[in-house]
Amino acid sequence: MSELVSDSPLQPKRPTWAEISLPALAHNFQTLKALLADGTQLMAVVKANAYGHGAVACAKALEAAGADWFGVALVEEGVELRESGISKPIFCLGGGWRTQGELILKHELTPALFRLDLAEELDALAKANQRVIKFHLKVDTGMGRLGIPWTDVEAFAQQLQRFSQLRLDGVLTHFAAADAATSDYTDLQIARYQASVATLRALGFTPTWFHQANSAGLHAYSQAQGNLARAGAAMYGLVSDVLSPRLTRPELQPVMSLRSRIVMLKTVPAGTSLGYGCTFTTPRESRIATLPIGYADGLRRAHSNQGRIIIRGKFAPIVGRVSMDLTIVDVTDVPGVELGDIVTLLGAQDGLCLRAEELAAQIETISYEIVTGISARVPRVHITA
Ligand SMILES: *Cc1c(COP(=O)(O)O)cnc(C)c1O
Repeated sequence: MSELVSDSPLQPKRPTWAEISLPALAHNFQTLKALLADGTQLMAVVKANAYGHGAVACAKALEAAGADWFGVALVEEGVELRESGISKPIFCLGGGWRTQGELILKHELTPALFRLDLAEELDALAKANQRVIKFHLKVDTGMGRLGIPWTDVEAFAQQLQRFSQLRLDGVLTHFAAADAATSDYTDLQIARYQASVATLRALGFTPTWFHQANSAGLHAYSQAQGNLARAGAAMYGLVSDVLSPRLTRPELQPVMSLRSRIVMLKTVPAGTSLGYGCTFTTPRESRIATLPIGYADGLRRAHSNQGRIIIRGKFAPIVGRVSMDLTIVDVTDVPGVELGDIVTLLGAQDGLCLRAEELAAQIETISYEIVTGISARVPRVHITA
């Protein structure tokens, strides 16, 4: 079977791979950047391995496309970017755990901060190294996860004044419902954020950075842009379950395509049962193809008997259960199918497209979970043109 895996320069050894279009990523970045007021910077959020797209390759392409900041969830993700040579500011959305201060200091990461014990640890570390650590204060205006409650900003900020080696260089909050059809909740969050900023200024703090918006926020709330916006999903071309339907959506391109090749092809008689649990029986003589991709690769088992793929310019249904490593498709209605044919499970091929949003809707999740769920054993192939 070696001929099946060696005839495309794009394809790694395994005949299942995720193709990442760096030009599409750069296009989306520029499109989002153009929605911002002049002088507002755009943070490219590349947490969770750039939403499954490959953090280092994406960050390098985005740096070249003009990304001003990078956003990561974990300190470890920030370290990975620094070690790959990224020099733009890196913001740790999740702040970091105790004992990660040294990594924050060494790699010049900018943490979100929302706990006094972590502030104390960072301050002590900064003192010991004769350095100043800049952080952004995270205010909870209605998400209810990380962040000090907006009503506690004054008390918290007074406590911060004793940390001589920490600089409050930014203030952020995170929207819970910026993609919603109504704006009431986000308007409330924006008002609470503005009140928090006023409180901080009254106490003498002089932050440089003001940021609230995620993808949905920067699309629908231009008044909440501050001087920095944080975009993840939209940058990866996820649109219909990310951006609010209230407004025209920008034209964004899917960045990830998930492809595989037929490794077994056979004709079976009517009445043949396919896959675990015998959940599908062929109603007619059928041409049945096996693909070397399964739920361990992130093709969700919920697509059993209801997903579809693109092959030779047509859609073909997934039949039977998606199993750990293998998936079966019915290609009876696709003329000319051959062993080794390339199929697409996500993304575009032959003028057809399966968007992550569509796959997500089919199994009652969101497109974020589809792309971040493509597992580590699927090689990422980054294409530059
Ligand atoms: C993940 C994340 C973002 C990016 O959100 P998208 O909806 O993907 O644009 C922005 N801000 C914070 C705090 C996040 O955790």
